[in-house]
Amino acid sequence: MKSVKVILTTGLLVLSSVVTFAIPPAKRTGPAPALRSAEAFSDVKPGDKLALVCKQCDTVTVQTVGSKEEAMELCKEGAEITCESCKKDFKVVRHAGKGPRGKAGSHTETKIVNDKGEECMFVTKLPE
Ligand SMILES: [Zn+2]
Repeated sequence: MKSVKVILTTGLLVLSSVVTFAIPPAKRTGPAPALRSAEAFSDVKPGDKLALVCKQCDTVTVQTVGSKEEAMELCKEGAEITCESCKKDFKVVRHAGKGPRGKAGSHTETKIVNDKGEECMFVTKLPE
């Protein structure tokens, strides 16, 4: 029976490679800037850790980036992101970002919105 137990535990570890947990606000180490443009996401490398902060259920899902494509998926217009915790589906939208002095800039920003179009999730890169 002992060997069966070991196998089960290993299976659980693999399943929890995408971990969802809530970090108490006090323990957060300063606000990391949110990634809000394709340029910001293009800096993400495989192995980097991203925190998906869900404002809907107030949790942080930490995800280790497996590939560049995976990271870019988070800023691709129309891409759907499901919160690991509340299981709600969100969508990535793009809009014109503000340029210098508040003028409409040429760059585009991305945000993650719910079905009402409200921003409900953002992504930040965790320090290594
Ligand atoms: Zn959520």
